[in-house]
Amino acid sequence: MLLLLFWSSPVWPETIDQRRETPTVNEETQAPVAVPADGNATTPNTSNKPDCAPSALPLAGKTIIVDAGHGGKDTGAVRDGILEKDINLDVALKLRDKLVAQGATVILTREADTTVSLDDRVALIAKYAPDLFLSVHTNATTSTQVDGIEAFYFNDKSLAPAEFVYHSLITGVGEHGNFVHQRMLVVVHHELAPAILVEIGYLSNATDRKNLTGGVYQEKIADAIAQGVLDYFASLAPATNQKTGSEKPQSPSQ
Ligand SMILES: [Zn+2]
Repeated sequence: MLLLLFWSSPVWPETIDQRRETPTVNEETQAPVAVPADGNATTPNTSNKPDCAPSALPLAGKTIIVDAGHGGKDTGAVRDGILEKDINLDVALKLRDKLVAQGATVILTREADTTVSLDDRVALIAKYAPDLFLSVHTNATTSTQVDGIEAFYFNDKSLAPAEFVYHSLITGVGEHGNFVHQRMLVVVHHELAPAILVEIGYLSNATDRKNLTGGVYQEKIADAIAQGVLDYFASLAPATNQKTGSEKPQSPSQ
């Protein structure tokens, strides 16, 4: 809810303690070093595509970067031995599979427990100019009562995907939402591409924490995010989406 802002400094000198003791924690922008992109190395545009008639799939021609928040030395939030970075990665991998199944080319900022700096994540956006950048995080705060889902964006073209994914999440998962917010988080505070960050629940809330560690719930989260992505792209070219599927998204009308 009352998330703090983190500016786009080259390196945020984050520590876990800082994060946990902040009144309302925001760990969305901290992470150090390295960049293993998509496991398919330098040409991720081909090997992630499904084999069967990819051009007929709704996300054919779309390149999406899926960003599992934190990783490696940066655990993200921690509660009861549960590490945010692990949940983020689990969901990101599931989401990757679902988007690829819909025809998208998906690039991961990390596909294992590796440390990736925020700058390197943004550099991937600059490199691939994706149709959408989507960062997956799990929140935490000092209050154990706070729970629910949030979405963040900064530039105008990111509002629409943020709203589509947010609404799909709260309806698809049955969680309550804490709304869509415009914030200067490093991974969304740029004009490189439509870029959103979703907080899929609170590790500091016992119910959310239990849900988030379960594979079934993670699948529901990934399904809901993927549906929101589908809804977003369908909204850009509803009449031609199935036919062309290769057009770059236009700026949302609002
Ligand atoms: Zn985070």
